[in-house]
Amino acid sequence: MTKGKTFIISGPSGVGKSTVLHALLERRKELYFSVSATTRPRRAGEEDGVHYHFLDVDTFREWIAKDEFLEYAEYVGNFYGTPKRFVDEAMDQGRDVILDIEVQGANQVTGKRPETVTIFIAPPSWTELERRLTERGTDSAEKIQKRLLRAKVEFQTAHTYDYFVINDTVENAVGELEAILTAEHCKPQERMEIINGNN
Ligand code: ADP
Ligand code: 5GP
Repeated sequence: MTKGKTFIISGPSGVGKSTVLHALLERRKELYFSVSATTRPRRAGEEDGVHYHFLDVDTFREWIAKDEFLEYAEYVGNFYGTPKRFVDEAMDQGRDVILDIEVQGANQVTGKRPETVTIFIAPPSWTELERRLTERGTDSAEKIQKRLLRAKVEFQTAHTYDYFVINDTVENAVGELEAILTAEHCKPQERMEIINGNN
């Protein structure tokens, strides 16, 4: 069995990462979405253990001390981190893993695991990003401005990613993500291993 691959999805807050990933996971049931830990307050509709593991700061620090995280970072006043164990278990079962993480975390993961595939998701325009953040209605005007500022800084690093997807429509963005997943499994080394394993 071929080991699964890890795919990082980064992009500005409000660009539609959760929306697009939800649609992708509906189509590709075999994918494993890594549920992050965070110290940020839960939004309406978010479930503990499904959208995030919601932790207080002391517990988050305990997880750091116990080396539970593949990566972690501070983002707009809160901590976010990827629990390592579940990612490794899923990959060992041959499942591809999706991490929805910001740029600092992405750099930590690629530093440790250079084979990780990185994908940046961008909005069709800054005006549209602000509209989506406002329309989502989960953040104060002040938080939205902080997230927009952060988005412009993160955008400067987008050229370092392996792929760049524009979320104009969810349908287009999901189609491109599926194409990337497929292409990444058409690399000679993996395909040759399959043929050799069949003999
Ligand atoms: P993120 O996870 O990147 O912070 P969300 O998935 O929460 O973003 O999406 C932010 C808002 O934008 C939501 O209200 C969502 O319904 C909307 N949205 C997502 N993708 C699109 C799209 N392609 N076109 C229009 N609105 C979108
Ligand atoms: P939000 O608060 O909107 O859910 O997420 C804010 C930012 O944190 C997003 O850019 C998201 O990708 C990022 N994020 C979510 N989970 C993690 C994580 O485990 N690690 C890191 N580094 N970033 C994360």
